[in-house]
Amino acid sequence: MAGSIPAVAVIGAGYAGLACAVELARQGIHVTVFERSHTLGGRARVVRKDGRVVDNGQHILIGAYTELSRLMRLTGGSPKQLERLPLTLHVPGRMHLKAASLPAPFHLAVGLLCAKGLSWADRLAMLRLMRWLKRARFKLPADMTVDGMLDATRQTAKLSELVWAPLCVAALNTPSAQASAQIFANVLRDSLASGAAASELLLPRIDLSELFPVPAARYLATRRGRLRTGNGINAIRPTADGFRLDGDPGSQPWHHVVVATAPYHAVPLLASTGACDRLAAQIEALPHEPITTLYLALGKGFRLPETMIGLARGPAQWAFDRGRLGGDEGLLACVISAHGPHDALSHEDLILAALAQLETELGCRLPAPEWSQVIVEKRATFACHPGLFRPGIRTPLPGLWLAGDYIESDYPATLESAVRSGVACAEAILARLAPRDA
Ligand SMILES: Cc1cc2nc3c(=O)[nH]c(=O)nc-3n(C[C@H](O)[C@H](O)[C@H](O)COP(=O)(O)OP(=O)(O)OC[C@H]3O[C@@H](n4cnc5c(N)ncnc54)[C@H](O)[C@@H]3O)c2cc1C
Repeated sequence: MAGSIPAVAVIGAGYAGLACAVELARQGIHVTVFERSHTLGGRARVVRKDGRVVDNGQHILIGAYTELSRLMRLTGGSPKQLERLPLTLHVPGRMHLKAASLPAPFHLAVGLLCAKGLSWADRLAMLRLMRWLKRARFKLPADMTVDGMLDATRQTAKLSELVWAPLCVAALNTPSAQASAQIFANVLRDSLASGAAASELLLPRIDLSELFPVPAARYLATRRGRLRTGNGINAIRPTADGFRLDGDPGSQPWHHVVVATAPYHAVPLLASTGACDRLAAQIEALPHEPITTLYLALGKGFRLPETMIGLARGPAQWAFDRGRLGGDEGLLACVISAHGPHDALSHEDLILAALAQLETELGCRLPAPEWSQVIVEKRATFACHPGLFRPGIRTPLPGLWLAGDYIESDYPATLESAVRSGVACAEAILARLAPRDA
């Protein structure tokens, strides 16, 4: 970096961009983050509606998400901001499975022994699948789908319906018939097969912008980092001395630029360089799946039997009791991952269908909602198909980097994969910054 001129620009203040910026700032690099929106967090952000504060969608972390936890601690987050629950699958009236607080594999074995609603055939089938994965060292054929894996290990219809299909669509945002068995196996390896702490569910008790993005912004401010919100970047121009950014109110060249946007927003930025057309076309080809969230405020006194329950009959797949997670008492968030028949319903009909579903599955009458809201993230994540191309952090232009949840990784599109890609970019940039620059 010449004098005090910042050398690194990050485009996008989602979890990936902010993770990259925090890591660079930690090492004394002056970094500037450009964010188009006025809200931090990208696809994991706070939404303010009718005087209520909710998230754009429910986010579940698992104990295995170590990088995000580390960065949360670094930027001043408290462990109390995450509710830690043993891995629990509770489908009212049909199944209850809770991992025991024991080292692997006993946490699962004891959890299975004590499970309600599963037959011995179901229990044995689950153990068979885990043993099969271990024997394969969690390496599966690249073209195998999750359904293919369930068939190969003779899973029972009940396990597939109540455990594997919902876990798959929740973790990969892709139905089991089309989802990559390898990526699902990686998630199982680092959670179910890794012990009680790794498989714990971590549910945010504060909004998703406050969880990491806002503390990250504060951290940057104390380390001469800059965050420009409401400042979109329209194009990246390679020059003899680095890159110029259309939309940057300053006029200095950037030695390194990190494109930390969603993949579909990275495409025009890469294309604008005139040197990344093939990469832009590959990223443009990534398929996407939506996530729909229905908020239902059922009023004080209403509670779900567990903080998070599985719903078997559709349209909703999971319901979260936000009242148990620091939110308004009686506020439920119902989640529908991926495309499905619900796409054809109006928001009003979707709310009515979810209320009817909850009444049937909970076996009780529900009060009329005081407030309701449907939030559809149409391109929530890439569809995690087998053998999908995912780019690395490098581009054909030295000094131009990619970060985001779609970057090549063991994990599906998650906060953790986003954060890890951001940290990987920061490490690569730090390695490149000559002593002259740093
Ligand atoms: C409803 C929903 C539920 C989810 N559930 C989970 C879950 O349970 N667990 C989990 O781990 N993950 C979950 N995810 C996925 C997770 O939210 C994403 O993987 C993660 O937030 C992606 O972060 P990112 O930084 O890669 O991209 P983004 O969050 O998309 O951040 C990119 C940022 O770049 C900005 N930007 C774009 N273009 C420009 C430009 N030209 N100039 C300046 N700024 C620009 C955007 O405004 C945005 O802020 C969920 C996602 C959704 C939508």
